[in-house]
Amino acid sequence: MNKIRQFFLNPWVYGVGSAVLAVLILRVLDHYAHLAIIDSIFKFLKNVLDFFNKNHELKLWVLIVLCLTPLGIAILVLWVVSLFQGETEPEFTNYISDTFFDINWHWRWLDNSILESSLLLLCPNCSNELQVKDTPFNDIKSKVYCEHCGFSKKFRLLTRDLVKKVLREIRRRI
Ligand SMILES: [Zn+2]
Repeated sequence: MNKIRQFFLNPWVYGVGSAVLAVLILRVLDHYAHLAIIDSIFKFLKNVLDFFNKNHELKLWVLIVLCLTPLGIAILVLWVVSLFQGETEPEFTNYISDTFFDINWHWRWLDNSILESSLLLLCPNCSNELQVKDTPFNDIKSKVYCEHCGFSKKFRLLTRDLVKKVLREIRRRI
């Protein structure tokens, strides 16, 4: 029983069977409703065949255009592909972390420039996010420290100047 089912579910059997059934239905329609559907189909097919069998006069420029069309399409495709390749990000955008002043700095890129708000300072010992404290009236203008392991680093620069210095250093290295 399963084999019979498989036979009928076979796409070839299904396709040929449907075609035969369609022709039969058309024959019956033609016969009883006095339509000429099958005749029309045959006439149409014959016309198509005749078209390809006849000698056609073709202007030389048509022939040249027909020959050049594939070349034109190929050039167009290559051009579109090159456009998409041009939009891929440059390689330096893979450069997203480094160590400056014993601190691990991480950042992201946006339109080929460093997204300043994405800058992240991580502790070199435990990778915890570092805290920053500015003390503008002292010699030591800022302090970066880790709440987790006690790591700390003091700078004679305000945090914003430190960040600017790091951004310059990143740009210098790419
Ligand atoms: Zn730490």
